[in-house]
Amino acid sequence: MNWILREVRILTPQGEVEGDVWIQGGRWVALGRVPDRATGQTFLAKGAYLLPGLVDTHVHFREPGLTHKGTFYTESRAALAGGVTTAFDMPNTTPPITTRARWEEKMHRLEGRSWTNFGCYVGATSTNLAELRGLDPRQVPGVKVFLASSTGDLLVTDETVVRRILRESPVRVLFHSEREALIQAARQRWEGRNWEEVPDLHTRARPPEACIESTRWLLSIAKESSVPLHILHVTTAEEVALLQSRPAHVSAETCPVYLTWTAADFPAYRNLLKCNPALKFAADQEALWKGLLEGTLEVVGTDHAPHLWPEKEQPYPLAPSGVPSHGYLLPWLWTIGRARGVPLSFWVEKACHTPARLWRLRDRGPLVEGYWADGVLFDPEGKTVVPIQGDPRHFSKCRWHPLGGRVLQGQVRAVWVNGSLSYYGGAFYGAPAGQAVEMD
Ligand SMILES: [Zn+2]
Repeated sequence: MNWILREVRILTPQGEVEGDVWIQGGRWVALGRVPDRATGQTFLAKGAYLLPGLVDTHVHFREPGLTHKGTFYTESRAALAGGVTTAFDMPNTTPPITTRARWEEKMHRLEGRSWTNFGCYVGATSTNLAELRGLDPRQVPGVKVFLASSTGDLLVTDETVVRRILRESPVRVLFHSEREALIQAARQRWEGRNWEEVPDLHTRARPPEACIESTRWLLSIAKESSVPLHILHVTTAEEVALLQSRPAHVSAETCPVYLTWTAADFPAYRNLLKCNPALKFAADQEALWKGLLEGTLEVVGTDHAPHLWPEKEQPYPLAPSGVPSHGYLLPWLWTIGRARGVPLSFWVEKACHTPARLWRLRDRGPLVEGYWADGVLFDPEGKTVVPIQGDPRHFSKCRWHPLGGRVLQGQVRAVWVNGSLSYYGGAFYGAPAGQAVEMD
């Protein structure tokens, strides 16, 4: 179906344009002035903002194998409702995606089942370099390397192996950057303790030094290769300082969880905010904001990692790490940014324009005539209520969100994916319209 959106404030890469929008054949045909000959279903936007759909380059949608926590269908739907139209999924599933064959099987499995456009990472192991070398950079967004915080095949601690991956990967290499040895040492020191005794237990069991030393090392070896290197979920002030002198092919991400909460919030949330790397301290959070604002951190990804409420209710050592972050992303970012005077265009830059540019998305990302029509109609003055735990209005399968019970500023009114109106007024329309992403 073709669409004509009337009275829209359009956030183009060049700035805000007021006017009308024409969507035809799944693409933006006119952004600003629609020709008289245009035909399509009219949508009266009445001054709402049209933003490009957000590109989340860091999600765990749990397929295959962990579908009791979430499926691509449920989690991409939750992401869509928060204004996300493209999501790149991590490989730590069951089985892990560590071969070309498993990657193809997963991509095939997602056809017609994703509400957002999608790409799937391949996980590095100590022995799969031959597989990684054969990856197609037009289809695979990257290789994920877990330097810590994983088990079995996906944990890669051999520095020689990491260096070889960095030299020989045909695609971007993304790092979970924590030093495993420092985490093991801290874990032993805090073993057997609980939240009652130690209010910020998780930050002690996964100390800042593990992140800092790992990122320091990554930056020291980055110059051995020109393969793009992306450091995921940066959490400490020291890492932001180190990243200020990073080479041009190194990029870095932080996540809304770390911009919203600190270790001081653990007494109220405990396992609910248990994620890796751990929440750090107020000074770290300030440094993350500063790093984002100054451009040291280029990308905001969510690290959406759903676990069921009963899993999180277990004692500390048993509760899995990871926080669901989808369902309300754009209002969430708008709300925490507004308190700091951050404009909407800032989040468009960090969660759409920059990832689209870094990952060289083909005809996708910013609002540009001729590109795929992935767009969000957003009302900055509206409100979004985040339901409490267990409420069926949560779209994520785990049915809870750390913002549960809060009212956020701003409201996603409608979302188009490849020109299909997929979300409007709290409901989903048509079939999932997400496509596999292509990269140049
Ligand atoms: Zn992650």
